[in-house]
Amino acid sequence: MLKNTIILLPIIISLLSCSYTAKGGILQTNIVNTNQSINIDINDKYKLTPNSLKLNLMSKYSKEHYGEPLIYLDNPQIIVVHSTETPNLAIAVNIFKNDILIGRPDIESGGEVNVGTHFLVDFDGTIYANTPLDYIARHTVGFNYTAISIENIGYADKLTEDQLEANVKLIKYLKSKYKSIKYIIAHYEYKDKNSEHYSLYKELNTKYINPIKTDPGKNFMEELRKRI
Ligand SMILES: [Zn+2]
Repeated sequence: MLKNTIILLPIIISLLSCSYTAKGGILQTNIVNTNQSINIDINDKYKLTPNSLKLNLMSKYSKEHYGEPLIYLDNPQIIVVHSTETPNLAIAVNIFKNDILIGRPDIESGGEVNVGTHFLVDFDGTIYANTPLDYIARHTVGFNYTAISIENIGYADKLTEDQLEANVKLIKYLKSKYKSIKYIIAHYEYKDKNSEHYSLYKELNTKYINPIKTDPGKNFMEELRKRI
């Protein structure tokens, strides 16, 4: 496949360039550094534009939990890998498009802003953008202020090989894009005080009960760590 790729326009001192495949004419992002070259397709079909209500609610959430009315994700330090625990993409897209949290009594005391994610990965490995990377999304208690979220469609440890491959590519791409990223964790690991990433944990609301999580499954995470 690589021999069919024609580099058209190097941008930003050869770190980032756009290319077209000679075969399909599909626009791809091509990240190049001294160690690796990554071709990745990110589909914008379900990309959200946060409105003023969503941003106001996110700002309130950040003020309550992190002490500052943050809405922007600057220099993210952690990537959290999830599974949606829903049966298909359509249901997940419908949940994430809302501004206000609905039907989540387990976390409603934490604030009104809806849960969110930066990426959705479907069973066939298609990567969809959702919340723009410029903005904070609510997905992992204690870490949202500095975390990128990848949500895999489906259930913990029932994810596909194509999803695993897509996660590997996406994480490599994000690590190339953001030199600030230090940790890649599974959602089920977020409360592990013995892990290094826990130094980034912030939660000012001491009454907020952190739910126990199992996503995206231990087997999936073990396989992912072998490949990134
Ligand atoms: Zn999760």
